[in-house]
Amino acid sequence: MTLRLYDTAARSVREFVPVVPGKAALYLCGATVQAPPHIGHVRSGVSFDILVRWLRASGYQTTFCRNVTDIDDKIIRVAGGEGVPWWLVAQRNERAFSRAYDSLGCRPPDVEPRATGHVPEMIILMRRLIDRGHAYAAGGDVYFDVSSYPEYGALSGQRPEHMRAADDTESNDAKRNPRDFALWKGAKPGEQAWDTPWGPGRPGWHLECSAMATKYLGPTFDIHGGGLDLVFPHHENELAQSRSAGDGFARYWLHNGLVGIAGEKMSKSLGNSLLVDVIVTKVRPVELRYYLGQAHYRSAIEYSPDALAEAGAAYRRIEGFVTRAAEVAASPPGADDPAAAVHASTSLAGTEAPAAAMALPTAFSAALDDDLGVPLALAAVHDAVRDGNNALAAGDADRATTRLAEVRAMLDVLGLDPLAEPWVSRGPEDDLQQVVGALVSVALAQRQAARERKDYAAADGIRDELHAAGVLIEDTPNGPRWELKR
Ligand SMILES: [Zn+2]
Repeated sequence: MTLRLYDTAARSVREFVPVVPGKAALYLCGATVQAPPHIGHVRSGVSFDILVRWLRASGYQTTFCRNVTDIDDKIIRVAGGEGVPWWLVAQRNERAFSRAYDSLGCRPPDVEPRATGHVPEMIILMRRLIDRGHAYAAGGDVYFDVSSYPEYGALSGQRPEHMRAADDTESNDAKRNPRDFALWKGAKPGEQAWDTPWGPGRPGWHLECSAMATKYLGPTFDIHGGGLDLVFPHHENELAQSRSAGDGFARYWLHNGLVGIAGEKMSKSLGNSLLVDVIVTKVRPVELRYYLGQAHYRSAIEYSPDALAEAGAAYRRIEGFVTRAAEVAASPPGADDPAAAVHASTSLAGTEAPAAAMALPTAFSAALDDDLGVPLALAAVHDAVRDGNNALAAGDADRATTRLAEVRAMLDVLGLDPLAEPWVSRGPEDDLQQVVGALVSVALAQRQAARERKDYAAADGIRDELHAAGVLIEDTPNGPRWELKR
């Protein structure tokens, strides 16, 4: 089975044929860093992280480029409102985005270029466009001449006469055509500016992505991604610029659906509660990742706390199996000495994830090959978990271990393996867990002694006190195991 992807430009699912066999180059429009991210912003991060993981698991040597738009009208406006320099706002929010991607287990891109670091490349691109008759300087700005590119509108499926005017500059009277868009914006007094042959100014948003994508991935590359809201005008304009300059540009255009708020307007207070920095203090980040990644990447998500809670419960079912099965795989049956009570994340921390693709069930691979069908891929995960739980209940350690390897291999592709980075606990927390584990073992030894003298009230009392302290005890065929209440 080969990978097929829905290409917005073709409006159909196409077989993925890379420019260079065995390699894949992907550009994703990253953050415009005028504010910290809410969950809507990081959905594309999660969706495309899964795509990159799947390309790599499928054997493609993948180069992933995601830019940062670190100067822009909105950043300048926010900075003006706070009375601070533009770069302070940009850097602060860039850090917030990095934190959010990290907290959700999105692997960093291979290269993360900033717009402000690529002005020379933009000047060269503008020069090529002007020389070829596709752009012109006017009133301190440089504009793309939309009428010079007959395919304009093909990506978003619009006819130019139905398109709205580009509202990217105030000097609209300098444009030849209201739909012409700014490649470069002349600086107002006091604004950050870079010198160009056409006067001092700063990058237009569309130009910077064309310049950075082709710098790192070449004039023709495989996949360009972004949110559905970027199809027009941003991606239409990127495509027009790069094709007009003579570059092939992206061969597949992938767009993720957006996150809406069910039943409520996105009020400011509600919006703040959905900031990634805030929501990860209330929800485990891995469960938030499961929630954002579980739907098909092209579908819209209507956010609701109930749906997030359901996703968390579904993830915990998977996690529970992985934890129990890993204990079975790690310890011989019959070890019922209470002093040997184990806690999965301490005894198994650092266990290597199974080699990618080795143990992947066919249904899982087929689902992801079919336009990254995560819902069906997750169904395969849950099927394996169900069978693995049956195997555990039946005391069939071999079958449970096989299912565990499959489940972990699948979760690795989805970035959700509870025993792999970044979800496995380490460091001081682990030290603390070992101390708690030792204390729990003392209490369990006393419970065992109480049972042996048939003082069941005392035995139950010990369990209840552990419970009250936040420690859940489960008696398993391999002896008692404990975990902290969530
Ligand atoms: Zn872009």
